[in-house]
Amino acid sequence: MPPAPAARKPRAALAELLAGNRRFVSGQPVHGHDVTAAAAVASGDQQPYAVVLGCIDSRVPLEAIFDQTFGSICVIRTGAHVLDRAVCGSIEYVVGQLGVRLVMVLGHERCGAVGSAVEALRTGRRPGGALGYVVDRIAPAVYEVGADDPDAHRLAIRRHVRRTVGTLRADDLLARPVAAGEVAVVGALYDLATGEVALLPED
Ligand SMILES: [Zn+2]
Repeated sequence: MPPAPAARKPRAALAELLAGNRRFVSGQPVHGHDVTAAAAVASGDQQPYAVVLGCIDSRVPLEAIFDQTFGSICVIRTGAHVLDRAVCGSIEYVVGQLGVRLVMVLGHERCGAVGSAVEALRTGRRPGGALGYVVDRIAPAVYEVGADDPDAHRLAIRRHVRRTVGTLRADDLLARPVAAGEVAVVGALYDLATGEVALLPED
C-alpha cells in the first residue's frame, strides 16, 4: 500500500470530508459552483483522500453534498449502497493503489431501495430481474430490525449502513489495514431535509 501523507490519515480525512459537508449546509461551498473544464484540468493527477459509497438517489449527489472538487474523492453509487464484487474490488483499488485511508458508507433517509426491501418482505413479493438481487442484499437488515415493525424502514436504513460497514471491514484486502488502524471504514447518514451528514454511532 502506498504511503499516505499525514493529512490523509483516516481521522484527518474524515475531518476534511465533514468540513466539506458543513460548507455545503451553510450555503458557502468552495467548489460547488466551479464545475468547469478549467477546474477539471487544474486537478492534474488525482490524489483522492476518501472514497464514499452512497446510494443512486438523485437527491444525494456525493461530490456536491461534501463540496468536493475534481480529484478529491472517489465515489461509488449503487441502490442503497449495495455491495457486489465490482464495488468491493473498486474500493480495494482505491485503498490499495491510490493510498486512500478513509471509506465512508453513506445511507440516507427515505431510501427507496430499502423501502423496496421492506415492502418485499412484508408482502412476500420479491422483484424479478437484477432488482431482486439488490433487494436480497438489503433484506438481512430488514430481518434484523423486523419487517413488521412500524419503524422498519427508518431502522433498516441504519442497520443496512452498519452491515455494509461490517462487510467492508472484513473484506479480504481491507481487513488487515483496518485492524492496524491504517484505514477507517465509517458509516454515516444523509438527512434530505437539512443536507447534513451525521456519523452513525458504532454498535
Ligand atoms: Zn437510496
